[in-house]
Amino acid sequence: MSGATSKGKGLTPYQGTNRCFGEYRCPNCNRRWMSGNSWADMGQQCTKCNINVYSHEQIFGQHHSIRAT
Ligand SMILES: [Zn+2]
Repeated sequence: MSGATSKGKGLTPYQGTNRCFGEYRCPNCNRRWMSGNSWADMGQQCTKCNINVYSHEQIFGQHHSIRAT
């Protein structure tokens, strides 16, 4: 754990308070996965590299897909 938690927004495309669906891609090994337990500004760990990966696309609701630019 690094204590560098800067308070800024934009870590994930979705910035709401609800759980949503997220698509992840590890920049290290290019592994992709989807998760139905995705939150704003929360990353998931690549099980191969053990690094934190932020979602590049999140889907909230039925057809609200939010992509990172
Ligand atoms: Zn990886």
